Amino acid sequence: MALYTKDSVEALKEALDIVEVVSARTDLRRVGQRHTGLCPFHDERTPSFSVSADLGLYHCFGCGESGDAIRFVQQTEGLDFRQAIELLADRYGVELKAEREDPRAEERRRRRERLMRLVERAATYYARYLWESSEAGRARAYLAGRGLGEEVLREFRIGYAPSAWDKVLTRAQRDGYAVEEIAAAGLGQRGSQGGLYDRFRARIMFPLADPRGRVLGFGARAAREEQQPKYLNTSENELYHKGRQLFGIDRARAAAAKAGMVVAVEGYTDVLALHQAGVPESVAIMGTALTQEQLAELHRAAGTVCLALDADRSGREAMLRAGRAAQSRGLDLRVVGLPEGRDPADLVADEGVEAFRSLLESAMSVAEFEVRRVLAEADMDTAGGRDRALAAVGPLIASVGDRQATRDELVGYVADRLDVPTAYVMTQLSAPAAQAPSGAAAPSGARRKPVAEAAPRTGGATPDRPAAAPSVAPAIETALRAERAFLAMCVAQPGLGQRYLARLEDDHLSSPALRRVREHLADYLDAPLSGLADDDPALAAGVAQVVMLADEEPSSEAAIRLGFLQLDLRRIERALRAARERSDFGRQRDLWGAREEVRGQLSSLMGEAV
Ligand SMILES: [Zn+2]
Repeated sequence: MALYTKDSVEALKEALDIVEVVSARTDLRRVGQRHTGLCPFHDERTPSFSVSADLGLYHCFGCGESGDAIRFVQQTEGLDFRQAIELLADRYGVELKAEREDPRAEERRRRRERLMRLVERAATYYARYLWESSEAGRARAYLAGRGLGEEVLREFRIGYAPSAWDKVLTRAQRDGYAVEEIAAAGLGQRGSQGGLYDRFRARIMFPLADPRGRVLGFGARAAREEQQPKYLNTSENELYHKGRQLFGIDRARAAAAKAGMVVAVEGYTDVLALHQAGVPESVAIMGTALTQEQLAELHRAAGTVCLALDADRSGREAMLRAGRAAQSRGLDLRVVGLPEGRDPADLVADEGVEAFRSLLESAMSVAEFEVRRVLAEADMDTAGGRDRALAAVGPLIASVGDRQATRDELVGYVADRLDVPTAYVMTQLSAPAAQAPSGAAAPSGARRKPVAEAAPRTGGATPDRPAAAPSVAPAIETALRAERAFLAMCVAQPGLGQRYLARLEDDHLSSPALRRVREHLADYLDAPLSGLADDDPALAAGVAQVVMLADEEPSSEAAIRLGFLQLDLRRIERALRAARERSDFGRQRDLWGAREEVRGQLSSLMGEAV
């Protein structure tokens, strides 16, 4: 499982200076035993971010983010554990020793690295050709015509493939690559006689890189009008998988991690235009319907994903599917309502970046987007039409699940548009007939009264409609991550973990699934993967995830304690919210006291007086 030996990872941890790592992101000031600064994870004016060089940990008293230097790099750069230690090892000159690989795996890795070097060289060649050759003049003019400046084009290493048949082929052979390797890397193509020639000719080249910036393939646009096809990609091969690829992910990663949001658009030039205009957290899905793999990659980049896509082309079905998948991942997926027939590049060029930013701010959940669309297309002039619309939006509203604020908001909106009381919409939603498939013209069921017979609404406004609440999804996700990380630390240090697990109560964990994992771990902490029933794959998956994470979590006593205090603080804050909603002042007062207590412990752990 582990790719690097534990010893070499430990050596890296030893070499890391957390103050230096954090200082690359935010200015730190030394105050006694600690360093403080403005938190890189949330916006603030007075510093509540604290770093302890002795413990090797950071903690924010404002937003609750905490961890060690590796986690800091994961969070700020949007990397997974392995990528983060590789980056740090590079920066600190520590050699990571790979676990002994089986010879076949090692051979595969070497071949992969060799092919990647080949593709990298091609990218450099194409990029130089764009700027230096007269043949590329038309391509340069096209890009300039789209309003793209040299700076952004160079940053993304946009290139040009010459029209000759063998430029890349002969260069690669001169560099010692075999014809078979050139074909395997997707740079060459077999002719009918079996000979190899350059796959990309007379095209504008968009390098497609992985999140670490390693070029794996290319998207290529025809430079001449009559050329077919207009877009040609590297075909699926050992390095490049279309369904996983996001154009610009390497350039967008850090910005997305900082903004807590990533924007997905259709095309290459949309991404370039947005970066140039100051929306660097943008990537392109490149004209395909959004795949599950892309969604996972987007989620790794940020907790909120805004889709600025042409809804017709990417397909409503795909979007709804993505919406459902997003929900089960705890991802906040939003849809940007682009004006008909306009792409983000046009919009930024014609109306400025503010116009696009304001669209981002008004992005809707997938359910809301679909509800609006159904209502916009509905026949509102007849009771039957409105009735059918209500039947169609039922499953969409139901898909929101238990996110009460979103649900209330949608119900309010539907009531408003259909001009009926919200209570009526609610009763219709809970009727079984509301489960009719989306878009189907549901018959007016025997148990459902037509809209026209519903009581008319009194007054203009809807007093029972709550104000639009901000989305809670990112907060839930942060909590889940912290809970999972804490359980992982307990697994990594079973002796200590047992003591902390015993102190953990059900309401420390916001997720029912993780509560079950905790129960299991309490009995099987020494061998967490044993004692799992065959017929409970959900529990097994939950435990396995925590066990895998255990390899990666910081596991000092201080880190476990910090993790526990963090969960305790979140537990108290959840209870406070509930007490506030019930207007239970006595309980609130108790909880304030408890919160001060936990904050005090956090402060003394981090050596800070807050
Ligand atoms: Zn913070």
